[in-house]
Amino acid sequence: PVDRIDAIVSLAKRRGFVYPSSEVYGGSRSAWDYGPLGVELKENLRRQWWRSMVTGRDDVVGLDSAVVLARDVWAASGHLTEFVDPLTECQSCHRRFRADHLTEEHGDGSTALAELSCPSCGNRGTFTAPRNFNGLMRTYLGAVEDESAEHFLRPETAQGIFVNFLNVLQSSRRRPPFGIAQVGKSFRNEITPGNFIFRTREFEQMELEFFVRPGEDETWHEYWLGERWRWYTDLGLSERNLRRHEHPADKLSHYAKRTVDIEYRFDLGGKEFDELEGIANRTDFDLTTHSKASGTDLSYFDQESGERWFPYVIEPSAGLTRGVLAFLLEAYDIDQAPNTKGGMDSRTVLRFDPRLAPVKAAVLPLSRNPELSPKARGLAAALRKRWTVEFDDAGAIGRRYRRQDEVGTPFCVTVDFDTLSDNAVTVRDRDTMKQERVSLDHVENYLVERLPG
Ligand code: ATP
Repeated sequence: PVDRIDAIVSLAKRRGFVYPSSEVYGGSRSAWDYGPLGVELKENLRRQWWRSMVTGRDDVVGLDSAVVLARDVWAASGHLTEFVDPLTECQSCHRRFRADHLTEEHGDGSTALAELSCPSCGNRGTFTAPRNFNGLMRTYLGAVEDESAEHFLRPETAQGIFVNFLNVLQSSRRRPPFGIAQVGKSFRNEITPGNFIFRTREFEQMELEFFVRPGEDETWHEYWLGERWRWYTDLGLSERNLRRHEHPADKLSHYAKRTVDIEYRFDLGGKEFDELEGIANRTDFDLTTHSKASGTDLSYFDQESGERWFPYVIEPSAGLTRGVLAFLLEAYDIDQAPNTKGGMDSRTVLRFDPRLAPVKAAVLPLSRNPELSPKARGLAAALRKRWTVEFDDAGAIGRRYRRQDEVGTPFCVTVDFDTLSDNAVTVRDRDTMKQERVSLDHVENYLVERLPG
């Protein structure tokens, strides 16, 4: 597992998925930049989520709210007081840690800090008593940096949805059960960012707030647990790498009646499974507290029954950037591929579902040649109208195949000397490495059948 994540971090940088942020100045463990292939992969994952959660459904609409909301929002939501982590400091090396993460690492939640050794310097029993640390990221709006100008970057996209509940209800002509979905950046002043893009201070979330009639909340919660599990497995995460984690009653957030996490086998930092998505029953907490605090009634008037009630909220909250890591880990594989000398070499391959693959097809002329290259360029240009396509005519064909395998391109289309007479090309499948001769005017259809939208 350790070399797996190391291999992925190095591949990600070498091939242009993810770079350490501000690397020329030494980089930071808390931020990462998405390169040419990473931005495609992340966008594909976002698009799949949006299709399945919003445009593919009749009962969910989208929203894109501001990152900096009114200060009152965070007072009402409880974030100013409740959004805290227990912070402890090692008195030997002065590294800071989340006390709850330390106890988890040592496998026993009840272990006293005095009995633990520091993960950084190894000294035992040197931790200060934990104190609460607020994770909101602060900024100042306007010219004067005083308390009245103090604002917060959102630590979740959800609150932007709740404060727009009435706007969406009135303008979209939806009524419960219905949902509002949002994808975007969130910010948390994490004490211990790290493990590559698993935990960063700036990250992206994909959240749905689904509003239902009280009493129907538990059924809808089960429904969304099933839907979200299916979404991950349908896109390629295997069941053996996924599990459900039910939050014990005494660990529930202040707003939640029940929360179940979908966990993935990230195998990071000494933990086998870790949270990929949290699916919470938030009750009517958000709409009632925002009603009280703002003076705007956010309840729903049910015309059919003549009753007024506050909808309950079921919230599937997923990490987009954390999801990218899960799909990278799942896709990474090493197998054996034939080399030109009749032997076998080990090859690295990212087995992405074609819907997620950053490049769908690569067009490769067998060699750089005044007849082959223009033909191949023409084909690449035609295919590019539909898909993300790479053209590559540099170096040995075997090495170009390896390169495409390593970034997870499902199909390589090779233009060779026979193409000039038979008007056909060779299409190579990433996973089976089988090659098929396909006539030039059928290439597009061939790919349409094998690349779901
Ligand atoms: P943790 O306990 O690990 O800090 P959390 O329970 O606070 O996480 P949620 O508030 O449930 O996380 O956030 C929903 C989702 O957002 C998480 O399942 C995760 O995928 C993603 N997420 C949360 N914090 C981060 C972060 N710092 N970096 C990347 N993704 C994150």
